[in-house]
Amino acid sequence: MELLKWVFLISSICMFFSTPTLSNSFLTEGLTQIPLNFLNFAKRNDLVDYMIRIRRKIHENPELGYEEFETSQLIRTELDKMGISYKHPFAVTGVVGFIGSGDPPFVALRADMDALAMQEEVEWEHKSKIPGKMHSCGHDAHVAMLLGAAKMLQEHRNDIKGTIVLVFQPAEEGGGGAKKMLDDGALENVEAIFGLHISSNYPLGKIASRPGPILAASGYFEAVISGKGGHAAIPQHTIDPILAASNVVVSLQHLVSREADPLDSQVVTIGKFQGGGAFNVIPDSVTIGGTFRAFSKESFEKLKGRITEVITGQAAVQRCKASVSFGKNFYPVTVNNEDLHEHFQTVVKDVLGAENLKEMQPLMGAEDFSFFAEAIPGYFYFVGMHNETQGKPESGHSPYYTVNEGALPYGAALHASLATRYLLENQPKSISQDKRIHEEL
Ligand SMILES: [Zn+2]
Ligand SMILES: [Zn+2]
Repeated sequence: MELLKWVFLISSICMFFSTPTLSNSFLTEGLTQIPLNFLNFAKRNDLVDYMIRIRRKIHENPELGYEEFETSQLIRTELDKMGISYKHPFAVTGVVGFIGSGDPPFVALRADMDALAMQEEVEWEHKSKIPGKMHSCGHDAHVAMLLGAAKMLQEHRNDIKGTIVLVFQPAEEGGGGAKKMLDDGALENVEAIFGLHISSNYPLGKIASRPGPILAASGYFEAVISGKGGHAAIPQHTIDPILAASNVVVSLQHLVSREADPLDSQVVTIGKFQGGGAFNVIPDSVTIGGTFRAFSKESFEKLKGRITEVITGQAAVQRCKASVSFGKNFYPVTVNNEDLHEHFQTVVKDVLGAENLKEMQPLMGAEDFSFFAEAIPGYFYFVGMHNETQGKPESGHSPYYTVNEGALPYGAALHASLATRYLLENQPKSISQDKRIHEEL
């Protein structure tokens, strides 16, 4: 048995070093050198200019979930120019590109394309040209980073040991675009997927992530609480839904403070409360809406059940009726695969050093990348972009949100490095075994 192991190891090493090399290739210089080479490539002026141009173009023309038609067209035009084959459409506007041999293993890199329904308040040359729509979560930068990575990978396509799948998905912001991409077969044959988000919580040049749960499961609900409207000065002839809804909101707070394990993070937030239109009229009904988050399926399902019970029960105390509906797109917990975490750590340390890799706490935010990571091993991480000389940054979803374009090369280089190294280190076992048997003969 021991001998077999040695024969296998030696034959694998021989296979690796006997790989035909391109004279200008850096993929065959050695594993640890690959991420550094990609970062140097990504920092080249031509590639930086390219990514900035793409990002600004998309920023000027933000499109909401499942309406990313021009963004999708731009991506396909760029892939055409690079000579990268792709399939389209997935999930209405999604695009899936392929770089490499076309053979297994297949590893995927993901970018989201959608903007938010909000007005940009930043005055700059490339401000959103569409009133009421803005890229204030950085998805414009995510597309630019993945196209930048595609450009680098395509230049080294002959040395890629397998196939890198580029996943451009619609509707991350509440629309569950990742789920639809999966349903449409975007991850067919893919054995692992990596995704990133730029973040102003971390300085430029720093990368953050963690193994296991990293982002919460998320759901949302709406409830209509109905009573009987009437004159505000004659409450005895009415059934007041405003008072009932107010009690509902207070009672919902007890789900987290009194029923949840304090060590199991959960959130219930009411973000919508609409009812009445006049100071002297009690309305017929009130509509409330909110979101709930948890880090396990069990806690999430328990919250969901109790939200319905509390709303209907508490409304009944005030003689009101209540109907509760939940949003279709529940996002599962985003769980980072432990083996991919090892891979990620090694690659980031090779390119940026251990001091620039931060192990973060889980966040209550949610990501539909979770659907991908539920279907196959997945890994999600944050690319820092905060410039410490420029004061406190605006967080995502703010109308004053800005992207530090200096982060683009880091995202592109990590995309390219994680995928390339994954393929080199995860060659199909059957080939290795055939080789081993052959060597033994
Ligand atoms: Zn967002
Ligand atoms: Zn986002």
